[in-house]
Amino acid sequence: MSEKNFNFVDEVRRRRTFAIISHPDAGKTTLTEKFLLYGGAIRSAGSVKSRRSQKHAVSDWMEIEKQRGISVTSSVLQFEYNNFCINILDTPGHQDFSEDTYRTLVAADSAVMVIDCSKGVEDQTKKLFQVCKMRGIPIFTFINKMDREGRDPFELLEDIENVLGIRSCPVNWPIGSGKEFVGVFNRHKNQVELFNDGNHGQAIAQSTTGDISDEKFTELLGQSLHEQLLSDIELLDIAGDNFDIDEILAGNLTPVFFGSALTNFGVEPFLESFLDITTPPKARMSDLGEVNPESDNFSGFIFKIQANMNPAHRDRIAFLRICSGKFEKGMAVNHVQQGKKIKLSQPQQFMAQDRVIVDSAYPGDIIGIHDPGIFNIGDTLCQDQSRLKYKGIPQFAPEHFATISAKNSMKRKQFLKGISQLSEEGAIQVYKRPNTGVEELIVGVVGVLQFEVLEYRLKNEYGVDILMHKLPYGHIRWIEMENFNYTRFSLAMDTVVLEDKDQNPVILLQNEWSVRNVLERNEGLVLRETSRVD
Ligand code: GDP
Repeated sequence: MSEKNFNFVDEVRRRRTFAIISHPDAGKTTLTEKFLLYGGAIRSAGSVKSRRSQKHAVSDWMEIEKQRGISVTSSVLQFEYNNFCINILDTPGHQDFSEDTYRTLVAADSAVMVIDCSKGVEDQTKKLFQVCKMRGIPIFTFINKMDREGRDPFELLEDIENVLGIRSCPVNWPIGSGKEFVGVFNRHKNQVELFNDGNHGQAIAQSTTGDISDEKFTELLGQSLHEQLLSDIELLDIAGDNFDIDEILAGNLTPVFFGSALTNFGVEPFLESFLDITTPPKARMSDLGEVNPESDNFSGFIFKIQANMNPAHRDRIAFLRICSGKFEKGMAVNHVQQGKKIKLSQPQQFMAQDRVIVDSAYPGDIIGIHDPGIFNIGDTLCQDQSRLKYKGIPQFAPEHFATISAKNSMKRKQFLKGISQLSEEGAIQVYKRPNTGVEELIVGVVGVLQFEVLEYRLKNEYGVDILMHKLPYGHIRWIEMENFNYTRFSLAMDTVVLEDKDQNPVILLQNEWSVRNVLERNEGLVLRETSRVD
């Protein structure tokens, strides 16, 4: 941690905790690495490239396995920059693992949305954006790869507004693009920042800054770029949305920045404005009312569980987001859902690229705690006497379903243990047929690669080969109905009613048409796309 002497309140106020969301390949990893470079947590950039060259040597899902291995260090990263203490929550790049991302977003206070300037808003960005929107967190847009020829910046703003339905206001405007991308204009400060070419992004970019009216910029930019910039600024001032901090913090307006994570151009101006605009952790709602992060009472919730990260130790780590009070190593806390007192020894934190044992941590921080099998996603931990509970984290709708069983019935015990652990981790969702006496398990996943990982992990971690039979359903809804009764519920032909892990009724359907059909057949029925949480 920092050498400086910060008191508890300073520590809370200098925290910024955010997630980076993007469609794969937009540059999330590169941007994260550059943040670490600017924070001084790494000396030279370039590891992304080497990681990617390894990528082609292995099949896709093996790579995911490998990434899971390294995700211990990449799930959460902490680093310091200008007296800020920054926590970045990494999210799996592959869309098949997006449920993990949905949950991670619950632990973030804001999100950075990376968009490729030649592609605009892509599918995965759309889905992740919706989850951020649902949570009402501020969303910052970084339009990346400006060192390449891309779409017109005005067109990209339009794309964000039309596809995502959020208003945008550029804070940094690009000067030139492609090979001619030479700098950014900060509309807030009315300042031009020109980058000096040089080190291919391995080291911090040097720049010249100054007022736009300074004549030296006319010369440095050349007449055509200078004129273009002036006309762009004029157009933005007339036609664009005004910068409105309240609207940004409410998640209704996204500030937009342009840059190139590869060459570092625009990365630091973005980081600085981002840190300036975003707030420290805010009060969070619990069943006992709002909890102020600066309160002395420690509290937090588990948003992610990852098992068997180290095959030699078979360990299982629960990731805890601290919401209030100071955490100290070895402290005894109340596990609210289980009504048990537990001691948090050996807590870990993830600093830049290392895992370290942490002595103290503050609201906004994420710590990893050893889980002997007592934690569930959504559990609250808090100081001794308190019993407050944070709102749980819902299960999001899977899109693929299959029945599974152990190939060898002698292995049923290990099979059930593996399934139950993977379900607690949130790697899969498990359903049963109610009241039939049939012990068939049905598994739901957001992306099909999760099936392969399921098969692989059951074999490697639990020694069980499985039989899997894919089912034709593509939709699930959580059923809400007064006096719900399985036997009297009217089903369409191509649907089935099951029970989720908490014995809530769910319905699997083949298409949107059957959703309407079931609603028409059952008066007073409400169908939800996520499970309900307390
Ligand atoms: P992620 O999948 O979103 O994490 O994307 P990566 O950070 O792995 O980047 C995907 C590819 O785009 C890599 O080959 C990067 O080198 C490249 N890339 C990332 N940022 C930039 C950029 O600003 N400009 C250019 N030209 N390429 C970039």
